[in-house]
Amino acid sequence: AKRHGRGTCTFFTAEAAQRVQERLGIESDLRCALKAREFGVHYQPKVSLRDGRVVGAEALVRWHHPERGPVPPGKFIPVAEEAGLIPDIGLFVLERALEEIGALVARGHDLAVAVNVSVLQLEDPTFARTVEDRLAAAGIPPRCLELEITETVAMRESEIIQGHIARLRMLGVRFSIDDFGTGYSNLAMLARSPIDALKLDRSLVDGVAGSNEQQTIVRTILSLAASLGFETVVEGVETDADLRFLIAEGATTAQGYLFSPPVPIDTFRTFLEPGRLQ
Ligand code: C2E
Ligand code: CA
Ligand code: CA
Ligand code: CA
Repeated sequence: AKRHGRGTCTFFTAEAAQRVQERLGIESDLRCALKAREFGVHYQPKVSLRDGRVVGAEALVRWHHPERGPVPPGKFIPVAEEAGLIPDIGLFVLERALEEIGALVARGHDLAVAVNVSVLQLEDPTFARTVEDRLAAAGIPPRCLELEITETVAMRESEIIQGHIARLRMLGVRFSIDDFGTGYSNLAMLARSPIDALKLDRSLVDGVAGSNEQQTIVRTILSLAASLGFETVVEGVETDADLRFLIAEGATTAQGYLFSPPVPIDTFRTFLEPGRLQ
C-alpha cells in the first residue's frame, strides 16, 4: 500500500491504530505474564580475548506468550518501562540469573553473570539492599555479578543512583556501561565514572573489519578505555574478520553470534567444557 500515493494516509492511520492496539495488548498481557510464569532467561556467553575462555554470560529475558509465541525484548521492554513493570521483571531476571549461574559457580566454575538494569530500578531507594539480599540468598560472591547500565544512567547526578553504585561496588559487584558509543558521552564525566567496563555497541562492532571509519572509532574507544582503566566488552561480533581486528586492538572480552546466540542454561553449561567455544 505504501507504493500507492493516495492510499498512504489511510494505510498509516490503520497501521498506527494497530500499533497502539498491539501496545495496549502487550501491556495488559505483561501484567499477568509474571504470575503465569511466561518469562525465562537465556544466557549469551562472554569470551575472554586473552585466552578464549568463557568468562561469563549476559542474562537476557525471554517472554513466551501463550498465543503470540516468543515476544522479542525490543517489543516489550519499552512497554514494561513505561507501564512501570520493569522492576518486577528485572528482579525476576536477577534472581533467576543468580540462581542458575550461582549453581555453576558453586560447582567450581569461575563465571560472572551480567544483568541489565533499567533506570527505574536504580531510582528505587531499596535497590542496593535488594541486590545484596539476593546475592546472599543465592550464596554467590558479589564479584560474580555485573550490572549493565546505560550511558545516561551512569552519567546521571542522582544521589540515589550514585549511592547504589558506590555501595554495590564496595561489595565487589561490577558495573558496565551498555551500548557505549550510541549516546552522548561527556569525557570528563566518563573519566570519573565509578564503573569497571565499557560495552561497545554492536553498531560500532559489526562490520568493523571492512570500515575505516568504524575502525577509527573503535580504536579510539578501546585506547580511551585502556587509559581510563576500564575493561572493554565488544558485543555483536559476528565474523572472524571483525574478531581478528578487535583482538589486535586489545579488546578484553567478546560477545556475539560468532560464538553463540543467547541460549537456555542447559546449553550454556555445555560451553564450559574446555575448548567448546574456541
Ligand atoms: P542489549 O542489552 O544490548 O543486549 C544485546 C542484544 O543483542 C540481545 O538482544 C542479543 O540477543 C543481541 N545480540 C547478541 N549478539 C548479537 C549478534 O552477534 N548479532 C545481532 N544481530 N544481535 C546480537 P535481545 O535479547 O533481543 O535484547 C534486546 C534488548 O532488550 C537488550 O539489548 C536490552 O536492552 C533489553 N533487555 C533484554 N533483557 C533485559 C532485561 O532482563 N532487563 C532489561 N532492563 N532489559 C533487557
Ligand atoms: Ca546489555
Ligand atoms: Ca548492549
Ligand atoms: Ca543494544
